[in-house]
Amino acid sequence: MAKILVTGGAGYIGSHTRYFLEKSGHTTVVLDSLERGDARAVPEGMLRQVDLRDSEKVKQVLREEKVDAVIHFAAYAYVGESTQRPEMYFINNVGGSLSLFEAMLETGVKLVVFSSTCASYGIVDKVPITEDQPFAPINPYGESKVMVEKIMEWLDKFRGLRSVRLRYFNACGGEPGSGLGERHDPETHLIPLVLRAAETGEPVTVFGDDYPTPDGTCIRDYIHVSDLAEAHILAVEYLLKGGKSDAFNLGTGKGHSVKKVLAAAERVTGRKAPYTMGPRREGDPPELVADAGKVWKALGWRAKRAGLEEIVRDAWETRRSSEPNI
Ligand code: UDP
Repeated sequence: MAKILVTGGAGYIGSHTRYFLEKSGHTTVVLDSLERGDARAVPEGMLRQVDLRDSEKVKQVLREEKVDAVIHFAAYAYVGESTQRPEMYFINNVGGSLSLFEAMLETGVKLVVFSSTCASYGIVDKVPITEDQPFAPINPYGESKVMVEKIMEWLDKFRGLRSVRLRYFNACGGEPGSGLGERHDPETHLIPLVLRAAETGEPVTVFGDDYPTPDGTCIRDYIHVSDLAEAHILAVEYLLKGGKSDAFNLGTGKGHSVKKVLAAAERVTGRKAPYTMGPRREGDPPELVADAGKVWKALGWRAKRAGLEEIVRDAWETRRSSEPNI
């Protein structure tokens, strides 16, 4: 069992991963600036409020806590915002990561799992997407993650910093009974918005129904946050056992259209989920689905909670029971 530092552990995916790490017997310490995370998502005594760009403070935490490995989530994650304020994304996501890696190298912590994204692939002409498709991000958020992945490759080659980069598809849902859930502010993600429509009767806007897909709406690979969390644990254990640096897609391998999500939400909630049809959203590819074969072979991971209805049900349940605004 190891001591793991979770950066961004007061955020949505970070807090779920911290929860599952503890359940698997690891000890954790959370490092979060709380600029966007919520302290209520972290148990008493586990949180160190530090901005990653403060490399000295990060070093201090790594030394004091005798950390074996890091799982690095802390970053800004809104695609739209990144197109309005790209500099913010490069300063925080790239600058914060560099500062963390410097602190890790200086304190001799050389294992890191990184939260990357399918946004690094951009608009693809081949689905399902395999890891060998070239990086071609179409927004600064995706580019900031690509930059960090590339920095990690150089640090692996010349400084022995071993890493697993996990490229998530559409993270959603929540772990029942954990007290955690998904509530961003402002909310931009489809599943919470559809559930809010079912709750309040206020319609959600569907961004386009003229895509080249069977029902005309976009197709995405929705992946349960608890499955994502479990993948991080396998990845960090793989590194602790001596595994070499690598990058993996995390998805179910199945795509669902926006209209399918609306129908699933109506079945789960037993309410109408009203919607209005709107224009396409800038930068939305018609279809993003993962080929998750590589991670199955390397880490023995596959999504266990892969049914759309199960994902929406857990999103609905945790939405109604979770406290933190994360
Ligand atoms: N979407 C939508 N209306 C919304 C939000 C999202 O129709 O209010 C669609 C969006 O076009 C995409 C899918 O839902 O096809 C998932 O979008 P989300 O923002 O949740 O994740 P993304 O795919 O951008 O990472």
